[in-house]
Parts: sequence; structure tokens; C-alpha cells
Amino acid sequence: MPDLVFSVDQAKSMRDQAVPGHNRWHPDVPAAVMVRPDSDIRIECREWTDAQIGNNDSANDVRDVKLDGCHMLSGPIGIEGAEPGDLLVVDILDLGPVPQEVGEAPGQGWGYTGVFSKQNGGGFLTDHYPDAYKAIWDFHGQVATSRHIPGVRFTGITHPGLFGTAPSAELLGRWNERERALIATDPDRVPPLALPPLESGTLAGTATGETLAAIARDGARTVPPRENGGNHDIKNFSRGSRVFYPVHQAGGLLSGGDLHFSQGDGEITFCGAIEMGGFIDFHVDLIKGGMETYGVTTNPFFMPGNVEPRYSEFVTFIGISVDHETNTNYYNDATLAYRNACLNAIAYLKKFGYSGEQAYLLLGAAPIEGRVSGVVDIPNACCSLYLPTQIFDFDIRPGGAGPQKADRGQCAVSS
Ligand code: ZN
Repeated sequence: MPDLVFSVDQAKSMRDQAVPGHNRWHPDVPAAVMVRPDSDIRIECREWTDAQIGNNDSANDVRDVKLDGCHMLSGPIGIEGAEPGDLLVVDILDLGPVPQEVGEAPGQGWGYTGVFSKQNGGGFLTDHYPDAYKAIWDFHGQVATSRHIPGVRFTGITHPGLFGTAPSAELLGRWNERERALIATDPDRVPPLALPPLESGTLAGTATGETLAAIARDGARTVPPRENGGNHDIKNFSRGSRVFYPVHQAGGLLSGGDLHFSQGDGEITFCGAIEMGGFIDFHVDLIKGGMETYGVTTNPFFMPGNVEPRYSEFVTFIGISVDHETNTNYYNDATLAYRNACLNAIAYLKKFGYSGEQAYLLLGAAPIEGRVSGVVDIPNACCSLYLPTQIFDFDIRPGGAGPQKADRGQCAVSS
């Protein structure tokens, strides 16, 4: 058995754990524990909002979620002997929901997908779906089903949304400088372009006094992926993956959480995976001087594991970098192209009786494949979205008598 080096009582907030985690990136968040290289360790995690979302049929909790305390991360785990310039080698041995029985925290037999409101976080299609929505998923071993999206059943590709190492003070300064510059280009935008440091809601492990104040003042928010890893939301970070994280700070200081039972490429609803608390087992090791050896100057790299759902038949939707409503061309914009592929998939699913909101939630949660198909054919980038046909308990392929429209209920909405 791996050593349990960071434990979580799911009945309590991360703030009230025996050793609390943290929710800002900063070099001075104290290590919660030190481990040796070549160790097997277990880390327990809270769901990323610290369980603000309930197993019910209202999306009011998603609409009103407090984002200043997110993400709730477990760690930091210090690795003895790790120095800047090393690579931290992290093998994902296993992960899953909370091993105990059904309970009130996400991960205790259930999880959720949320569409955030445009006023509070937003999402990839927020201009089309500006309100808050939610789907609750029930776990059956490796399979998820939802009372809010009936007719669907799929195997999860379970992974951590977020793990990373601590930034150095110099790297943190660069993040804050460039993100503030981006925000300054449109400071009143809703949703905002980026999130600057925010004292309110800060949790900094066991830090106190002046250290805590400095972390609250300057600590980077955890939403984006950066040079330390962070919130990649790569669904293929699943069991068997080997991830190589740059070490920027002595001890490496590995932290993370945001476990996902499943997710589609793009995590388009923002809270688009099936969110849960749970456990993750790692083997950790070091490659001394590995950043120079392998040419790593910015981001981590990884080798995916070989355990994943085996869906082999798809209906694939295509999007290009055109705003079709205004007939405006954008130059090789892969983000816009993928957004259009998503909208085309939603329009198709509506013909089978799903609401647009249900289809949006499904594309965030199910193991869809998103691909950058072409970025050289001026002026239109082309992206594609592969929707597995076998996750539906009816035939969603085109043909025959046309789409089988049925009453497919509705997702949770806000009042
Ligand atoms: Zn997540």
C-alpha cells in the first residue's frame, strides 16, 4: 500500500482538516509532508470547490458558488533533494472517488457537472448559455449515469484536473505581471480575462503571520495551467500516466486535486468534468538536472497511460473559425473553430429530444475527443469533435427513419 501522506475527512472543509491544504500558488506555502524519491504515496482530495455543490435538483449552488476559495488543493508534498532544474517524475498508479459509502460530498458515490453563469465564471459557450445548470452523475464502478441526462451511460476516463509544483518567486512574479497586463486590456470584461491575486478566501496550508499575508497578497490563482503544470484538465492524465514536472523551487512542492471521474476534451462547461473528491496514488521520483537534459524550459510533459474507455465509433462534428451569425471571418482561430464544432454537436443532439443545456453538459462530461484538425488553411482553422455513439442507449447515428425524438427530461436549473 502507498503511504497516506495527505489525508482528508470528507465531512469537513479543507480549512478544518488536521493539516489543511491550500488554494494559491506561492513558493512559501509550507510543505505539508516530506517524502523520499522512489516512494509510493497516497493523497486524498476534496472536490475543487470544497464541496459547495449538492446532490439535488437545483443549480442555485452552481450559480452562487464562491470562487475565491477554489481550487482546494492537497499538499504541498515536498520531495527530499529536489532542486530547481530537476524533473519530478510522477507516475499515476491509481485514483478514484472516495472509497467509503455514499455521502454528501462530491465523490461519495456521485459527482456533478456544472455550467457556470456568465456573471460568475462563465464557460466556453457562455454567450449562448449564460445561466447556471447542473447534472448529477451516479457512479456504478467505472460507469456514470445521470438522472438529469437520461439515455446515456459511459465509462469514465478518471484523472486529476490539476497537479503542479510550486513556482519560484521569480516565476510567480512573471505570472502576475503578464496576467495583470492581459486584464488591463479590458478590465471590466464579464467574465474577466484572468483572475489576479485575491486576499479574500486565501488558504495557505500551515502558513501564519507575515508568510500568510504575503501568500494572500501575491499568490497566483489556480484556474489556468502554467509553467508549473496546474489546471491542465487533460483527460488522458489517467491511470498509468507518467508526468514530468519541472522543479522551480527547492523540494519541488507538488500539490493538486480537482479529481474528475470523466471529462470531454476542452472541459467546455468550465466545471465541465464530472467533479469529485477522492484519492490518488503516485510513485514519485527525481531526474537530477532533468530540465536541461530533456529541453524543458516551460511546461511539464507526460506519457499517457494505456487504460482508457475503448470507444471506437463516433459521429464527428466540424467547426471553422467563422462567426456564422455575423458572417465574420477570424484568422485561424482554433478556439472559435472548436466552439462551432460544439454548437454543431448540440444542434444535432437537440433533434433527439435533449435540451441544449443537457447536450452542453454532456459534451463537457462524456469522453468526447476534441482535435485540432487544421490550422494552416487560411483563413479558417478547423476543429473536430468526436462524439462516441456507444455512450447512448439508443441509436444516434443519422439514417433510417431520422432522429428518434423522445422526452429526455431536463437538467437542474437555477431559480
Ligand atoms: Zn475540475
